[in-house]
Amino acid sequence: MPDVPLACSVRSCGLPLERRERAFTCSAGHSFDIARSGYLNLLQPQDRRSPRAGDSKAAVEARAALDRSGVGRALIDAVIDRVAALHLPPDAIVLDLGAGSGEMLGKACTGLSIAGIGIDLSGAAVELASRRFPSLTWIVANADRRLPIRDRSVDVILSVHGRRNPSESARVLKEAGLLIVALPAPDDLIELRALVQGQGLERDRVEAMLEEHATHFELIERFQVRDQRQLERDALVNLLQGTYRGARFTSWMKVAAIEPMAVTLSSDVCVLKCRTGG
Ligand SMILES: [Zn+2]
Repeated sequence: MPDVPLACSVRSCGLPLERRERAFTCSAGHSFDIARSGYLNLLQPQDRRSPRAGDSKAAVEARAALDRSGVGRALIDAVIDRVAALHLPPDAIVLDLGAGSGEMLGKACTGLSIAGIGIDLSGAAVELASRRFPSLTWIVANADRRLPIRDRSVDVILSVHGRRNPSESARVLKEAGLLIVALPAPDDLIELRALVQGQGLERDRVEAMLEEHATHFELIERFQVRDQRQLERDALVNLLQGTYRGARFTSWMKVAAIEPMAVTLSSDVCVLKCRTGG
């Protein structure tokens, strides 16, 4: 694990974490062991309870299988290209909020030779990420709370269909640092939603996201990534499990009867710049 600007996650501590052999410790004496597969678990007791739906090993494996079959590849490639176009210096740090099993951050950072920190609440996802991309830093933490990252230390934050935390993002970004947010576009998975929910309601999420970030960020670029794929039954079921947290659905009979179909994968991507002093 490279030297990265981590901070202690114990409530109201926040002191820098330094590596001591197989653990990270702060000067107040809090210590976090590095797991055998190389990640760091910074979850606090209040976050260990009530596991969120979708954190299960089955959901993580479903998402990983989708990654392998190319679902979401267009979005990953678009975000990686956007990060590459920044020509970040070699000491730059990219932080991924809701990194999942690390597909995007891993490829972005190993390809560009920059440091990456991936945060996810799912231990199963983070363990997979740390095995796949051992040169990056992978952390189990709740990205909705105080981020275990030092002030003004990160160049770019990614939130790709992931968690968003505007005030914390502003705190940890360097001056004029960038936040790249991808949201499901109104027609994302519309065929699948029409099938399972009986309707394909379209909802634009960008305006609400921009409003949420308006205090600390300004929009500097917006684009859409769209891909349509013919998917087999297994991929469709994985998509439901990995994306829609299958458990939400009551219509499992419809899922069992699902036939191969073309599915639209569509995302709105926004690049936001942190205001000075944010
Ligand atoms: Zn501490």
